[in-house]
Amino acid sequence: MDARSDRVTAYIGLGSNLDGPREHVSRALKELDTLPLTHLAGYSSLYASAPVGPQDQPDFINAVACVSTRLSPLALLDQLQALEQRHRRVRQRHWGPRTLDLDLLLYADLQWQTSRLTLPHPAMHERAFVLVPLAELAPEVTLAGKTSATLAKHHNSAGLHRLLP
Ligand code: ATP
Ligand code: CA
Ligand code: CA
Repeated sequence: MDARSDRVTAYIGLGSNLDGPREHVSRALKELDTLPLTHLAGYSSLYASAPVGPQDQPDFINAVACVSTRLSPLALLDQLQALEQRHRRVRQRHWGPRTLDLDLLLYADLQWQTSRLTLPHPAMHERAFVLVPLAELAPEVTLAGKTSATLAKHHNSAGLHRLLP
């Protein structure tokens, strides 16, 4: 497994809309703390959001987590995909329902484009269900020169609701 000598801060977007989505997201937040060379540094509230893409599926539960890790970007992606599999994610149609989706949003300020991994996550700046929890957790973090707080404030967040603990 690729390891770095220094620690890096990374942000992860979590989503679920199948088989008890609140439980999947809450459990996955705790499991991020158990990944090798990684610890959970913080996480947002849970949010409910209307689905992106196909509308004939349940609403999503979303959250954003911050981890401190010594894993390389691809090793972290491997771990996130393995965690999705442990939640018995089945890949069906694109943007279809799933028990757990873990997107690597930001890895330090790395810009990276390969067939397996694009950083920052290419759609994060256009998704309220990512920007709003990210701004709650890390309002000063920047994306293309703008803070998450600014991006979230100017984004239409109709259909997104913060859940009480
Ligand atoms: P979206 O990426 O638009 O949110 P999705 O989460 O439904 O869609 P998936 O089926 O989970 O898409 O992932 C498809 C592929 O995207 C993965 O196999 C992975 O290799 C690739 N990928 C590229 N960049 C990232 C990233 N930043 N985080 C997670 N996966 C990524
Ligand atoms: Ca996704
Ligand atoms: Ca994904």
